[in-house]
Amino acid sequence: MTMNLRVAHLYGDLMNTYGDIGNILTLRFYADQIGVTVTDQIISLEDDFKADDFDFAVFGGGQDFEQMVVAKDLPNKRDELIKFIEQNKPLIAVCGGYQMLGKYYVDASGRKLPGIHAMNHYTEQQHENRFIGDIEIQNEATGQKYHGFENHQGITFLGEDEHALGKVLKGYGNNGEDQTEGAVHKNTIGTYFHGPIMARNGNFSIHMMFEALQNKYPDYDFTELKTKVKPESY
Ligand code: GLN
Repeated sequence: MTMNLRVAHLYGDLMNTYGDIGNILTLRFYADQIGVTVTDQIISLEDDFKADDFDFAVFGGGQDFEQMVVAKDLPNKRDELIKFIEQNKPLIAVCGGYQMLGKYYVDASGRKLPGIHAMNHYTEQQHENRFIGDIEIQNEATGQKYHGFENHQGITFLGEDEHALGKVLKGYGNNGEDQTEGAVHKNTIGTYFHGPIMARNGNFSIHMMFEALQNKYPDYDFTELKTKVKPESY
């Protein structure tokens, strides 16, 4: 049986800071090892997004100007994106993408951009400061440590029905105050990690790949395939 994962690269032509597209390349790298094919498609301004057409999605980071452009288009995709998220399909949303899935984002000039409220976090403005540098967190459920690079002006606060991706060991994370980094709701992961997150954190990537596969092929027993793929570490 040939298995395939169809990836939606949300606004990949606008939101792709620090090579966030590397998340898709990493998914393909691990999928290759178990004979799973990965196809990807940019879904951008005025494109139709249908939850049923995709098994995995990546929404990268961006600068404030691009976020302003995307904020105008995103409401058209809101219902299908919420459907995708609630179907438990993996969505990796990085930095600007993470901010836009929440309630709102206040940019560096103080402009408040509405998010689509697919998740309950919100992002306030930091005054004349950015959080820049290497970051390390620990996922409290698995004990795994994740490494990344952050560069953001916005400071994010978690809402109900979401928990952090990890506890900050080094760096700033969501807001520099509460030691949380990222947000998890179902299989949607919001994070400030560039790097890209999947390339630098093999365990995380493999976990997300099998979540997508299990979701798409619920009757298949993945036990043996799981032994065939080993995480790279960087
Ligand atoms: N423009 C947003 C901020 O500065 C997101 C930045 C990013 O995606 N790296 O917070």
